[in-house]
Amino acid sequence: VSSEKDAALAAASTSPDSPTIFDKIINKEIPANVVYEDEKVLAFRDINPQAPVHILIIPKIRDGLSRLAKAEERHCEILGLLLYTAKVIAKQEGLEDGFRIVINDGPKGCQSVYHIHVHLLGGRQMEWPAG
Ligand code: IMP
Repeated sequence: VSSEKDAALAAASTSPDSPTIFDKIINKEIPANVVYEDEKVLAFRDINPQAPVHILIIPKIRDGLSRLAKAEERHCEILGLLLYTAKVIAKQEGLEDGFRIVINDGPKGCQSVYHIHVHLLGGRQMEWPAG
C-alpha cells in the first residue's frame, strides 16, 4: 500500500499543473532564506546547498513553465529576467571570479521540483563535465 501511495505522490509531484513546494515559499506558507525579490521574481537559498553559494531563482507566476521543455515564445521575457537576476545576485554575493548557472529539465535532467528555476552556484571551483 505504501509503495502505491509513494507512486501516486511521485506522479502528483511531477504533474505539470500540480502545486509545488515553491508555491508555498511564494505564498510565505513555509519559510525561505530570501536573497532577492521583485514583482516577478523570487530568489532564495537552496535547502540542500551544493556549493558555498547555492541560490534558486524562480518566477512568482509559473504560467505553465513547470520545466524549460514547456517554454513557449510568451515566456521569453521571464526566462531572460531569471538569467539577468542570476547575474545581479551573483554580484550581490561577491562572485566576481565566476559562478555556474544550471537549469535541470525533466527526469533525465534530474529535475525534482516542477516549477522552473535557475540554480546559481558559486564560491568554489566548479568542474566540467557536470555529473
Ligand atoms: P531541481 O532538482 O533542479 O528540481 O532543484 C530543486 C532544488 O530545490 C533542489 O536543489 C532542492 O534542494 C531545492 N529545494 C527543495 N525544497 C526546498 C525548500 O523548501 N527550500 C529551498 N530549496 C528547496
